[in-house]
Amino acid sequence: MSGIYIHVPFCKQRCAYCDFYTEVAPQFIETYIDALVREFYLRKDYLPVAPVRSIYFGGGTPSVLSVAHFNRIFNAVSELYKLDEDAEITLEANPDDLTDAYLSEIASLPFERLSIGVQSFDDGDLKRINRRHTSLQAIEAVRNAQKAGFMNISIDLIYGLPGQDLERWKKQLEQAFALKVQHISAYGLTYEEGTKLWRQRAKGEVRATTDETMNEMYQLLLETVKNNGFEAYEISNFAKPGFRSRHNSSYWKQRPYIGLGPSAHSFDGVSRQWNVASIRKYTDALANNSPSFEREELTLFDRYNDYIMVSLRTSEGIDEAYIRLEFGKELASYCLENIKRFIQTEKIYRLNGNFRLTTAGILISDHIIMTLMKV
Ligand code: SF4
Repeated sequence: MSGIYIHVPFCKQRCAYCDFYTEVAPQFIETYIDALVREFYLRKDYLPVAPVRSIYFGGGTPSVLSVAHFNRIFNAVSELYKLDEDAEITLEANPDDLTDAYLSEIASLPFERLSIGVQSFDDGDLKRINRRHTSLQAIEAVRNAQKAGFMNISIDLIYGLPGQDLERWKKQLEQAFALKVQHISAYGLTYEEGTKLWRQRAKGEVRATTDETMNEMYQLLLETVKNNGFEAYEISNFAKPGFRSRHNSSYWKQRPYIGLGPSAHSFDGVSRQWNVASIRKYTDALANNSPSFEREELTLFDRYNDYIMVSLRTSEGIDEAYIRLEFGKELASYCLENIKRFIQTEKIYRLNGNFRLTTAGILISDHIIMTLMKV
């Protein structure tokens, strides 16, 4: 089983916290689609011959594309790949794009899951982080999607936004659950170097939320998802039973995937590669039938570190038997030796041969992951 990720690197405006590779350059959409379709054919042998389990359109803003664009992409997919019977096909969308008109246009396409970039239901927050939609548009986007028949909807939220306190975060969560969505991804704000928010913090125009408040917000998140019958299946991802993101789960289980489009990453089990992060360089290279990317062979330590990094964030945790089998006795002993102190301090617990983070462990997960990694 494998997955396909398609990076759509266009945004109508840049959000203040975002460091993803995207451009405000709609004039390149047509050449991008030509190049993307070409990349599909040139790299048709990248994935092992196995049904594709998930297709994820991420960005950027995939909802800037039209039905005609999507049809060209899906034609390439159906010519080149065999899809799993119930393959998960996700479209990431900006709330203000999800109008009744757009939703009825894309109804002919095989999307069955929407991931909506809400981030906040507070108009002040949205303005501060330069989102291009309002709180009302976010609510309407979810309702429009439900009306259009989508029964698998995820929303993204950010906590720890400048000026947000625990009470205001609580209101965000209440609004999110009132919308009866099936999945929520919630991330603590990070100030990424080079972003507008990062510069504003450096100038003292905004203040970062304290670690203590971030922890309280996360605890509140955990309590609220639990009270609403959601599973915390990864540190930042929460789903009603049966609605875990299959695409993300594949990443975490280290299954192969191909990433297409500028800056997209791919993984084939023994190496990872990433496309050039520039629309122009990407389209120029493909016009010459020569994709532009960098590639890195993974060593045993790289693969072990990747496994630790992703598996410890999931509710399944680290599987001791898998480590022994995949990475050998030496790395298994290294892992067990280092894990002991976190078991003693109740940051990790063991269940059925797997090591999982406790809530206290989640709050220091970065530190634990660094300790267990082999450098
Ligand atoms: S957060 Fe999303 S919409 Fe905003 S700039 Fe980044 S990719 Fe574009």
